[in-house]
Amino acid sequence: MNKSHTDYDVIIVGAGPAGGMCAYELSKRNLSILILDKEKLPRYKVCAGGLTKKAVDLLPEDLQDIAENHTYNVLLTLNHRWGFSKTTSFPIVTMVMREKFDYFLVQKSVDNGARLLDQTKIILAEELSDCVLVKTEKGNFKSKVIVGADGVTSSVGRCLGLRKKPRLGVAIEGEIFPNNNANDLSKYNRSLHLDFNVIPKGYGWIFPKKDHLSVGVFTTLQKIKDIKKYFSLYIDRKGLTKNYSCRSLIGHQIPIGGRSEILNTKRGLLIGDAAGLADPITGEGIYFGLRSGQIAAEAIHKSLTRYSFSLDVYTKTVKDEIINNFRYGGYLAILLYTLSFIAYNLGRKSDLIIATFIKTVTGELSYTDIFTKYLKKYLS
Ligand SMILES: Cc1cc2nc3c(=O)[nH]c(=O)nc-3n(C[C@H](O)[C@H](O)[C@H](O)COP(=O)(O)OP(=O)(O)OC[C@H]3O[C@@H](n4cnc5c(N)ncnc54)[C@H](O)[C@@H]3O)c2cc1C
Repeated sequence: MNKSHTDYDVIIVGAGPAGGMCAYELSKRNLSILILDKEKLPRYKVCAGGLTKKAVDLLPEDLQDIAENHTYNVLLTLNHRWGFSKTTSFPIVTMVMREKFDYFLVQKSVDNGARLLDQTKIILAEELSDCVLVKTEKGNFKSKVIVGADGVTSSVGRCLGLRKKPRLGVAIEGEIFPNNNANDLSKYNRSLHLDFNVIPKGYGWIFPKKDHLSVGVFTTLQKIKDIKKYFSLYIDRKGLTKNYSCRSLIGHQIPIGGRSEILNTKRGLLIGDAAGLADPITGEGIYFGLRSGQIAAEAIHKSLTRYSFSLDVYTKTVKDEIINNFRYGGYLAILLYTLSFIAYNLGRKSDLIIATFIKTVTGELSYTDIFTKYLKKYLS
């Protein structure tokens, strides 16, 4: 590869799951990579850290050393009143703490030769005719391609003129520790708790970690007044106030559903939250960060090694594989959150519906499949 005009083949801004996966895939292909992140790594990130089976299946190595817990059981409730659970023969969600998980992927890339500069915030990214110029607090760098993996408020997206209006959901989460006796976690640590009707158009969750619980509420509404109030009511109803302490209560936006906008320019593209790629029903974003990072790496590698240079295939693949599916997920979200009583009871009574839900978590079924194969057949 001719590197005479630029410092790097690719600069990746953001060392979350999207940036980490993209860096890993590109470094495996022997391209020269610079990863920039404004935080000192490893860094805490507000997130329940639930990796669905489909996310785990994408990872280069198993997570034995960093997994906090594996859950084989989902407990679903409505109005804190009715509940049922479903057990799976495989870990439906693997729990991680993001500081460890994100760093694990970045370190794999560094092992493959990528360079990491943390505590380095980008100020400007400018696309020139033969390269991209990235200005940071610690100096300027050039590359042939820039990847914006810098989260929901993406500076790269702004600089490149991409992703102007993401649709946003909102979540707030606390890390909840037992005050004295670790056994206080025992009644929670086998199951994933998903509780509906605890916040408008969303749900509450308890994700069990090794020594604490990640607990939060999420709404698909763009704006909600006083989300902290819903959180406080939720932990109160779940019995997590007395004898427990809530640390680091943080709210954050989640860009749900994708949009039909273009996600690339000539020399730049957006992945993960920067591209708005979180699930419109659940707010799951790690899988889509990882997957868009992989698709981006493939498109960049092809562009840099073949005669014709174009990143357009990236937008096309993400639209075909992810965003079209989100469109159907968006319709299902409206059904689920508007008719939650009916949806919940259908799920409680029908093994087929619960099996279908689980298949969307594992990746065996897409929302498009549910709409085009099941609902259409059922309604006709
Ligand atoms: C409360 C909450 C709970 C969630 N729980 C789950 C869950 O259980 N499972 C799941 O799949 N998803 C979950 N999500 C969604 C998930 O956290 C995101 O979708 C995921 O983090 C997106 O990854 P990313 O790599 O695109 O961006 P991020 O993880 O946001 O990483 C972006 C990185 O870019 C860096 N950066 C930003 N700006 C700059 C700059 N100017 N210069 C340099 N670096 C910069 C940041 O420091 C950061 O490290 C949750 C979200 C929230 C808010």
